[in-house]
Amino acid sequence: MRRNDRELDVMMDNFARVLHAAEVRLTPQRLEIYRRTAATTDHPDIDAIHREVRRTLPYVSLDTIYRALALFAKLGLISAIRPPGCHVRFDANLAPHHHFICTRCGAAIDFEDPGLDRLPVSGAAAALGRVESRHVELHGACASCAAGAPAPRPRAVRAQTPRLARSPRSIGTRSHRPYIKTKRRD
Ligand SMILES: [Zn+2]
Ligand SMILES: [Zn+2]
Repeated sequence: MRRNDRELDVMMDNFARVLHAAEVRLTPQRLEIYRRTAATTDHPDIDAIHREVRRTLPYVSLDTIYRALALFAKLGLISAIRPPGCHVRFDANLAPHHHFICTRCGAAIDFEDPGLDRLPVSGAAAALGRVESRHVELHGACASCAAGAPAPRPRAVRAQTPRLARSPRSIGTRSHRPYIKTKRRD
């Protein structure tokens, strides 16, 4: 789904600010790659982002997209999720939120839940370190799949290809199981 313009404007301002603070050059390519990633709430994979960026920059390579996404992840501008059976997908929504993953059509839907944000941690998990944020991934049939509506199978959901192995470690993926995320230190 398309993100509303006002929200996208705020994200674009933040993007420019973060790059400036990090003394990273704001090139037209980086700007467009971020804009296309942030313009949708669909959590696009790299192929989907590449397709979108090529609408305005026809000659941009997949490698350029890849390097830009790795940079954005390093700067904390995007995060990555990797639902089971899917390519790594990118999320420009920096607000604390959780994901509902449809196991039928592959939709990854953001939702907020203050209760999950305060999920109690006990025993072994608490002993692992200081918890600073929580992310929960729920799996099931989305409303339209549950209602039996034929949902288009997005390109993001398909058998994994060897190219997946190229994901840099700098793009941290979220586990597909509910888990407690501790803040990265880098
Ligand atoms: Zn679905
Ligand atoms: Zn999300």
